[in-house]
Amino acid sequence: MKIQGNSYRDGLAIEISFSEGIIDSISETQNLLEQDLILGPGFTDIQVNGYGGIDYNEIQSDPMNLAEISRLLYKEGVTTHFPTIITNDPEQISQLILQIVSLRKSDEFSRMSIEGLHIEGPFISPIDGPRGAHPKEFVRAPDWSLVQKWQNESKGLIKMITLSPEWENTVPFIERCIDHGILVSIGHTNATHQQILDAVNAGASLSTHLGNGAHPILARHPNYIWSQLSQDELGASIIADGFHLPAEVIQVFQKVKKENLMLVSDSVSLSGMPAGDYTLHIGGEVTLTPEGKLHLKSNPSILAGSASNIRSGVSFLIKNKLAALTEAWEMASVRPEKLVNPGHRLFKEGSIADLILCRKDENGELEVLKTIKHGREVFSA
Ligand SMILES: [Zn+2]
Repeated sequence: MKIQGNSYRDGLAIEISFSEGIIDSISETQNLLEQDLILGPGFTDIQVNGYGGIDYNEIQSDPMNLAEISRLLYKEGVTTHFPTIITNDPEQISQLILQIVSLRKSDEFSRMSIEGLHIEGPFISPIDGPRGAHPKEFVRAPDWSLVQKWQNESKGLIKMITLSPEWENTVPFIERCIDHGILVSIGHTNATHQQILDAVNAGASLSTHLGNGAHPILARHPNYIWSQLSQDELGASIIADGFHLPAEVIQVFQKVKKENLMLVSDSVSLSGMPAGDYTLHIGGEVTLTPEGKLHLKSNPSILAGSASNIRSGVSFLIKNKLAALTEAWEMASVRPEKLVNPGHRLFKEGSIADLILCRKDENGELEVLKTIKHGREVFSA
C-alpha cells in the first residue's frame, strides 16, 4: 500500500509504501500534490479519560460501549491512546481495568489503539487545589501490592502512573515501577523541592499536565512548578486548549523543556460532544461552551476538565503561533512515543505504519482526511 502527501517535517512531496503494518520506504515523489495536504505520524495521546460521551472511568453495562472511543479518536488522527483511570476505590479501579481488558479482547480497533493504560492517582496529594477533581476519600499513599494486583488484572497493560512524591515511601515505590517498565510521572502534587529531586533520582521522568492540578494561588518561590521546571530529566505534558494554560506559560515551558514538552488532551467524556449543559458523575452540573470550554455551570471560572482532543491541541499551537507545524505535530506524536514506546513509531523505514493525512487551512486548523493504523486504513473522510 502507498500514501502520498507533503511531509510534516519539511513540506517535501513524499510517497510512503508499507506492508504488513511496517513502513517499507519513504521517498520523494515528482507528483504535484496540493500544498495543504500534510502527511505525518499518527497522534499518540497518553491521557484520555473518555470521549464522545463515553467514560473509561464509569462501569459500563457492556464493555463494548467503550469501543466507539477508539473509532472517534481515529477520526481525529489519534492512532494510539492510553485510557486514563483516575483516583477511585481500589476495587473500582480493578473493575475499570477489567472492562478495558475485556474490550480489547473483543474489539480489534480498540486492541490496536489502546497500547497502554495510564493510572492517574490514587497516590496523589490529598490537598485541595493540587488534588483537582480527584475524590479525596480515595487518595492514599503509594502501595506496590495494589499496583501489582492491577498490573496482573490488566495483563501488563499499565504503562504509566501519575503520582505525587509527597508521600513518605515514594522513592522505593518509584524504583519498583521503573524496574517493572512503568513510567512514573509527577502530577497533582504538593511535594517539596527535595521530594521532587528524590523522585527524579528514583526515575520519575515526566510531569503530568504541568501547571494544572495545582493551587490557584502559590508561593512565588519555592514551589513545585519551579522545582519541576528545574529538572532536565523531567519531560512535561501540557493541555493546550486555550483554557488550561495561558499562552505565555506554554512559551516558557517550551523554552525550558524543549523537545521533552508534549501534548495530552486529558479529555473527559464530554469531549467531542455538542455545546450545552450536562450532568457528570464527577463534577455535577457543567456547561460546555461553543468554544470548547468546560466549566462548572454555577461558576464559569472553574474548569471541569478538558473537552479537547490532541488534534485540536496541535491546531491551537499552530494557529496561535506557539509552535511551527513540525514541532506541534511532534509534540503529539514522536515525543510521547519516544517516552512510552521507545523506537516504535518514528516515521522512518522499518517503523510501524501509523500515519495520518491532514488538510491544513489558512489559519492552521488541521482536518484529518485519512488515518492508517498498523498499515490499515481505519478512517477516511
Ligand atoms: Zn489530572
